[in-house]
Amino acid sequence: MNNHSAKRIAIFGSTGSIGTQALEVIAAHPELLSVEVLTANANDELLIEQALRYKPNVVVIGDDSKYQKVRTALEQTDIKVFAGEAALAEVAAMDIYDLMLAAIVGYAGLKPTLTAIRHGKAIALANKETLVVAGDIVMQTALEMRVPIIPVDSEHSAIFQCLVGEHRNPIEKVILTASGGPFLGRKTNYLVNVKREHALQHPNWSMGAKISVDSATLMNKGLEMIEARWLFNLRPDQIQVLIHPQSIVHSMVQFEDGSIKAQMGLPDMKLPIQYALAFPNRVANSFPRCDFKKFNTLNFDEPDYRTFRNLPLAIEALKKGGNLPCVLNAANEIAVWAFLKNRIGFLDMTDVIEQTMQKVSWIEKPSIEDYYESDGEARLYAGELIKL
Ligand code: NDP
Repeated sequence: MNNHSAKRIAIFGSTGSIGTQALEVIAAHPELLSVEVLTANANDELLIEQALRYKPNVVVIGDDSKYQKVRTALEQTDIKVFAGEAALAEVAAMDIYDLMLAAIVGYAGLKPTLTAIRHGKAIALANKETLVVAGDIVMQTALEMRVPIIPVDSEHSAIFQCLVGEHRNPIEKVILTASGGPFLGRKTNYLVNVKREHALQHPNWSMGAKISVDSATLMNKGLEMIEARWLFNLRPDQIQVLIHPQSIVHSMVQFEDGSIKAQMGLPDMKLPIQYALAFPNRVANSFPRCDFKKFNTLNFDEPDYRTFRNLPLAIEALKKGGNLPCVLNAANEIAVWAFLKNRIGFLDMTDVIEQTMQKVSWIEKPSIEDYYESDGEARLYAGELIKL
């Protein structure tokens, strides 16, 4: 804080993979960006360390039981400390920042992000689940409030960058690339035995646990198709997925004349994070550069929909719409949580999601309350299936 001309950033989810990389980006550009808000769920130690180093205006710890510890650690500073789920939305509404980096993982990111949009804050969106759950309401609110939503997800950042200067030119289709995750080429007989440790070893990206599992099941690509549908106002048939194991082409846009634009670079989330925080400017940095001599073959292939059944389930939700993507997301969060706790196997996750999608009643045009209820209902049912 304290740099009066800098863009004031609130990082919701500062202790995560995206949050910590964003702090590195901000620290490298103090003349452009300042930290005003940091939030964590349970990682009080890291939140305290970040607060003492970056001196934000406000910190929030989601877990109330950690409030006293954080407060005591910061009592010699001017930093205000809040705690609890409701505080996340209260701070999101405060007039102390310009742009929210929405980097909380999962459904928990929805309410603070929607609150920020309702208060006219620009959003750098990493939390894809916000659009998966309630994309229609989130985008409509952003339109009404004239709030820009700048994607951080590398694929959507790529599409966004390809679209700069093209706003009058209709999109024919977008091509979302997928690395294929750690189990690319594997079949069901192999997947039946994989454990948490295998699923967390992504070949190209270092990410939080939930998105790493989503990448291993290809659910991540399904969530990204739904995210792209809302961000770029596309029909489901305009979104194609291709497996691209090198993760150099981050995604592509094909225009009506058949011309295709791609955005490329090394797989490093700091680049799309910096692009979103500094948008519309490109800022010089010292990140490693892509050397095409080292990547002289770039492959593109169809995903294996028969083995990785989470992807067709997400496509079904994308096509049917209504509350089905919200139900898919909730069931997936419960299934991934159970897999990470070694309570269910890798392939069981798909069964939990599929059965939950069949169980929860479909609502064609949900209100925000309908989404909250569908999320709760889906979690309850998925939890019963797993016998939580
Ligand atoms: P992490 O798990 O690494 O971090 C999640 C952050 O959210 C942490 O700060 C965590 O706090 C906080 N958090 C978790 N649960 C809650 C909750 N219930 N209430 C409030 N805060 C909570 O996730 P990632 O950084 O990997 O991902 C964040 C988002 O960005 C996800 O939606 C993901 O899909 C998306 N994304 C991530 C990419 C990546 O490379 N990591 C790439 C593209 C998108 P604490 O540390 O205290 O638990």
